[in-house]
Amino acid sequence: MRAVVFEQWKTPPTLSEVDKPTPGPGEVLLKVAGAGACHSDVAVYADYDASMGMTQLEPSYILGHETSGWIEELGEGVTGLDKGDAFLVYGPIGCGHCAPCSRGQDTYCENVADMPYMASGLGRDGGMAQYMTVPARNLVPLGDADPYAAAPLADAGLTPYHAIKLSLPKLAGGGKTALVIGLGGLGLVAVQILKAITGATVIATDMKPEAMARAEEFGAVTVPGGEGQAERIRELTGGKGVNAVFDFVGIAPTIALAAASVARQGRLTVVGIAGGEYAWSFFKVPYEVDFTSTYWGTIEELHEVAALYRAGQISPDVEYFDMDDALEAYRRLEAGELSGRAVVTP
Ligand code: NAD
Ligand code: ZN
Repeated sequence: MRAVVFEQWKTPPTLSEVDKPTPGPGEVLLKVAGAGACHSDVAVYADYDASMGMTQLEPSYILGHETSGWIEELGEGVTGLDKGDAFLVYGPIGCGHCAPCSRGQDTYCENVADMPYMASGLGRDGGMAQYMTVPARNLVPLGDADPYAAAPLADAGLTPYHAIKLSLPKLAGGGKTALVIGLGGLGLVAVQILKAITGATVIATDMKPEAMARAEEFGAVTVPGGEGQAERIRELTGGKGVNAVFDFVGIAPTIALAAASVARQGRLTVVGIAGGEYAWSFFKVPYEVDFTSTYWGTIEELHEVAALYRAGQISPDVEYFDMDDALEAYRRLEAGELSGRAVVTP
């Protein structure tokens, strides 16, 4: 079968011919419907290397950590699942028995040092292929909903959902505001989730006018970048500042914008992994602001994300690519030429 393989650090992936995998005990073989290209993949193949201690991400393996598909085959001991049914893949794979794994939060597995990989598509073969194997416990049913457009939900949906859920105490009650910085794969779904599960006014910004136009269609008020941007955002909040800020870029200027926009007792979540730095000081940041980062989400939350999708309350914007064009999808992602999410349909 054909697959997008990450072969070496600091080297773009290749389109290669590899063996069709066989599901092990407790796993299923999935026929892939869609595999989203996430900006984190670019960091993995272009920025990281062995010196950063990323042993679980050591190549080579098939990329693709946001995947949907149909069960093709059941591995030994798997019961209660039917061939042909459609599922989302919960990517993170921890030990399965520590406290975080037991509550479905494999992202924070306590035995991660003993695991040979982090997730499907991150150290272990992922979904940028015609078939993949997945532990049965990592499947989230999609029912009758379109499995192709669902693929990005596994990360571009789940990651913002997790960050937003942890911010809900800041958004409860009337007159609250949220700010979404960066309206790409994750950010555009974040706007939809905020509209679906909170009553907050959603303010959004991106460098790309078409991304902001799309956010407006999802119900956001947009504020373009440039001089005085934080002041204009504050004006939209009646001068109080934003109750929950989400930065899907994570470079120094966007974190600075987030910090300049956040309200007293607000929450600021940096989701983008660009590694930007910010010099916090007692006098610079309003009182009692929670300043945090975040990583992916829990499988329980992915069930909730799938429920929102099945109810038609959220739907990722997708651009489809054949397997032949999978590398072109990554090229366009890197060049910032995509709107929404590139989904490879092998
Ligand atoms: P993307 O490329 O699809 O979207 C990024 C968006 O940010 C684009 O629309 C771009 O125009 C916009 N942007 C870039 N610079 C900007 C600036 N200075 N001001 C405003 N907008 C700007 O990327 P994505 O796949 O949505 O991922 C977003 C970030 O989230 C990446 O850093 C990715 O690695 C990270 N990520 C983090 C997690 C996590 O668990 N923390 C999970 C998935 C992705
Ligand atoms: Zn664990």
